[in-house]
Amino acid sequence: MTDRIQRLQELLEEPLLITNPVNVLYLTGFDSSNAALLVEPSRVRLFTDFRYIESAQAVEGVEAVQTARSLITWLTKELDGRIGFEANVLPWSFAEQLRGGGIDLVPRTGLVEQLRAVKEESELELFRQACAITDRMFERLVSEVRFVGRPERDVAWDITRLYHEEGASEESFEAIVGSGPTGARPHARAGDKVIEAGELVVIDTGCVVGGYPSDYTRTLATGELDAEMREAYDVVLAAQQAGLAALRPGVKGVDADAAARGVIESSAFAGTFGHGLGHGLGLDVHEAPRLSTESPDTLAVGNVVTVEPGVYLPGRFGIRIEDDVIVTEDGIENPVRFTKELVTVS
Ligand code: ZN
Ligand code: ZN
Repeated sequence: MTDRIQRLQELLEEPLLITNPVNVLYLTGFDSSNAALLVEPSRVRLFTDFRYIESAQAVEGVEAVQTARSLITWLTKELDGRIGFEANVLPWSFAEQLRGGGIDLVPRTGLVEQLRAVKEESELELFRQACAITDRMFERLVSEVRFVGRPERDVAWDITRLYHEEGASEESFEAIVGSGPTGARPHARAGDKVIEAGELVVIDTGCVVGGYPSDYTRTLATGELDAEMREAYDVVLAAQQAGLAALRPGVKGVDADAAARGVIESSAFAGTFGHGLGHGLGLDVHEAPRLSTESPDTLAVGNVVTVEPGVYLPGRFGIRIEDDVIVTEDGIENPVRFTKELVTVS
C-alpha cells in the first residue's frame, strides 16, 4: 500500500486531499464512506469519524485522525495553506466551504486514477479469478438455463444465482439481459419482456473477486436467426477481433477504437455503433484508460481494458461482444475463455 502512496507523492506539486472513497481504498486499503486522505511529501493523514477510527488506526504508514461526523466542516477548521483537491469528485459546495475557511484550493484531476490504470500483479491475479468465474457462469448459463418463454429478469436472477454458486463475492453490476428490441438499447436493464424464439439476447455481466470486476458481453441466439442478424453477428465479431489485434503499449485509445469501428463502418451496418470501443476496468467498472473516438489516453503495460463493439438496430435487435484484456509488453493477454461463436440456447 505504501508503494502506491510513494508513487503518488512523486506526482504532487502540493499536498493532495483525496476524497474519492475508491481512491482512499486503493491507496490505503481502508474502506469507508466517510474518509479523506491528505498526502504531503513527508506525512500522510487519514481522516475519519468515530465509527471507522479503530480500523483507520490499523492502517500502516498513515496517521489516523478522528474528525467530527461532518468531515468537510471539520477539515475547514483544521487545515490551511495550498492544497490540491480532486476536482472531478468533491462537490462544489464542499470546495466552496473549504475555500471559505481560508484554504488555497488547487483543482487536480485524475492523479490517483492515473496510478490505478496500471495494475500490479496482485490486482491482475484477482481480475483473472473474476474472469474464470464468469467463464464458468456463462458455460452453465447456456447449458442449464431456459430462455424462451421466460422474462429477461428471470434470466438475470439465474445469472446472480450462478455467480453465487461459483464463488463470486458479488456482481460487477446488475446483469443486462436484452432480448430482441431490448438489446438495441446498450444499457437496458433486464425487464419484464418475455424472451421469444428466434431472437438475439445480449447478456452483459460480470462478477467481483477481491474488489476486482469482470465485465463480459455475449450475444446468444434463441433458435434460427434471419440472414441480417447472422450477418450483423459476423460483422461485430470481426470488429471485436480487429479491436483486440490493435491493442499494445503505446497505442492511442482513439486508434484502438478506430480499428474496430472501421470494420462496422465499412459494412452494411455503418452508423449503428454509437458508443466507445472500451474502458479500463479496476476497482471501478468504468475507469481509465478509455478506448473511444474522444479518448485522450494511450495504452501502457498493465492496463486492463474491455473491447466491446456492437451493432444496434432500434426496435429490432442489438449485438455486442465484449472481452476484458490485459495489456502486455507485446500485445495482450486475454483471460476470457467463453466462446465467441454464436451459441444457440433454448
Ligand atoms: Zn459490459
Ligand atoms: Zn464494459
